[in-house]
Amino acid sequence: MSTVPIDYFRSIEEDLKSWRQTLHQHPELAYEEHWTSDFVADKLKSFGYEPVRGLGGTGVVATLSNGEGPAIGLRADMDALPITEQTNLPYASKEPGKMHACGHDGHMTMLLAAARYFAETRNFNGTLHFVFQPAEEGEAGADKMIADGLFEKFPMQELYGLHNWPGLTEGHFAGRVGPQMAAFDVFEITISGQGAHAAMPHLGKDMLLAASHIQTMFQSIVARTIDPQDTAVVSVTQIHGGDAWNVLPSEVVMRGCTRHFTPQVQDLIEARMGEICQGVAKSFGIEVTLDYMRRYPSTVNTGRETGIALDAARAVAGEQKVSDTFAPSMASEDFAFMLQKRPGCYMWLGAGSTEGGCLLHSPTYRFNDEILTTGAAWWVEVAREALSRGKAA
Ligand SMILES: [Zn+2]
Ligand SMILES: [Zn+2]
Repeated sequence: MSTVPIDYFRSIEEDLKSWRQTLHQHPELAYEEHWTSDFVADKLKSFGYEPVRGLGGTGVVATLSNGEGPAIGLRADMDALPITEQTNLPYASKEPGKMHACGHDGHMTMLLAAARYFAETRNFNGTLHFVFQPAEEGEAGADKMIADGLFEKFPMQELYGLHNWPGLTEGHFAGRVGPQMAAFDVFEITISGQGAHAAMPHLGKDMLLAASHIQTMFQSIVARTIDPQDTAVVSVTQIHGGDAWNVLPSEVVMRGCTRHFTPQVQDLIEARMGEICQGVAKSFGIEVTLDYMRRYPSTVNTGRETGIALDAARAVAGEQKVSDTFAPSMASEDFAFMLQKRPGCYMWLGAGSTEGGCLLHSPTYRFNDEILTTGAAWWVEVAREALSRGKAA
């Protein structure tokens, strides 16, 4: 195997920081990544690619072939979050209320860097599809790209993804066989009935008290329905109802989300929520409707491809900086949809300390530019490693 191209990326590190910080100034939300999509496509064109636009609306895919060999996909996400940035960085977001607070600006930069390296060196055999995906944050852009024919238009036997990870030591890697991140569902509950004067509750029904019972009983799902060996979270995050000091409202809306790793646990949570809602409805003499919406499946890494991704990480960072045994995250990720269609691995790259509120989805999050060269080198290694191992059995 040829040597890890870390020196190449260090020699263009100032370019990479500048791309990343430029992207950071122009955050765009799900399916609105028009400026971002232009930026990515223009960079790819400047490296000699002919990017294909429009998959998933604002998605960009660029392909590079060199000789005989398998085809693989390398994917980065493009969208930002509806957060007002509070970092005071000189290159902070120029879009009020929008921020790259998950580091997707860094992800695009690292994958663009690898695309540039491969276009210049052609140091591989096979076909590389660089996939820039919109709408990772809750809006399932990966699923949309698949529906738009990603795997038919760009046939690939496997694919890889990378996310920066605050809290994991800078420059370390973590990837595990099996679930790396949890599945994610949301729910909305509408509670309705005859409200009442708050001084005369016996003349009506109390939707707020019913909501309190539902919320409390939901906490019995994980504690008493799910096998203690399994993992799940049920969180009520909103309860809306009432406008006055002295009126029991006729409608209350509750919302929240659940996390889990297996379809069995998912089915159990949904069924139990329905039973609790109907039980409370009956006992209060009111209407309760549950709208349970399945969003992202669990992000599950396959064995062979995780081996490739970990070997690439070891080649870049050294054995000591690579972990394959850790607890999966209860957060979720829509690369899961791609992993349902093709084998692959979703890897975390350590971004270092979370001091000063440097957490994903926080207004004080800062992407750590020091990991750009490491991430780019991993992309090159994972591609070369995957292509050199040939076709999956
Ligand atoms: Zn995110
Ligand atoms: Zn993210």
